[in-house]
Amino acid sequence: QQNERLEIMDQVKSDFITIASHELRTPLTQVKGYADILSAMNEDNALSREQTREIVGHINRATMRLEALISAMLDASQIDVDGMHLTFMEARLDTIVRLAMEPLNQAIRERRISFSTQNLETLPPIQADFKRLVQTFTNVLGNAVKYTPDRGSISVEGYLIPSENGEDDHVEIIITDTGIGIDPKYHDLIFEKFFRIGDPQLHSTGSTKFKGAGPGLGLPIARGVVEAHGGHIWVESDGEDEARLPGSRFHMTLPV
Ligand code: ADP
Repeated sequence: QQNERLEIMDQVKSDFITIASHELRTPLTQVKGYADILSAMNEDNALSREQTREIVGHINRATMRLEALISAMLDASQIDVDGMHLTFMEARLDTIVRLAMEPLNQAIRERRISFSTQNLETLPPIQADFKRLVQTFTNVLGNAVKYTPDRGSISVEGYLIPSENGEDDHVEIIITDTGIGIDPKYHDLIFEKFFRIGDPQLHSTGSTKFKGAGPGLGLPIARGVVEAHGGHIWVESDGEDEARLPGSRFHMTLPV
């Protein structure tokens, strides 16, 4: 098992080069291309206000994609170097989940994925780094959206796990999707940097499209944040099957 794991990690390293260069090059090529168009049209005095706005919009979106990738890489490397720097404050899980869903709401409407939460309002507030937890939930919920076909469903349930002495209470959050599921042999590896299941040649086709590939940094960052809070994150799934759709259940525990 250890050997197989080492072999896969070795593969991940070489895939990283493919993924990183592709993920960086695609938006960079777009920026260069649109800048060239802008310049050529400007030379010819052929630019209308509307066209300028459209071309600049493309450049901005490509730049934002580059920024997102670079900041994910920095976040992921921060975990290795000296752990995450957290700023603790009182935070409510229902608010965190609501904010985490904001960038995903349009996609779940378009793809007719139903979304529900249970029991989050009844949980006690926790001491947490609000921004980092929102980022973590966006990563895990974003994956649930990506790997669930249209008309599927995603739910978030919360439980309080009381401790005997009352000083070490935890909350457990379970994010369940009705998606393609994950082969048990990958349940640990998906939390490793740059690991993704499937073909490394696939590149980001969009952050919310069905099976849209990403750089493989979402879950490592999520794990870094959860562990820096003193919690745990793991996944349960019967296996990957696009026809049967066994789904995945991501569990997170966090100290109150
Ligand atoms: P990515 O940028 O590829 O989304 P992640 O670190 O977030 O990277 O996830 C790693 C891999 O784990 C994904 O490429 C995918 O294969 C798998 N995965 C994560 N969440 C799910 C899910 N809810 N259902 C099925 N597969 C998943």
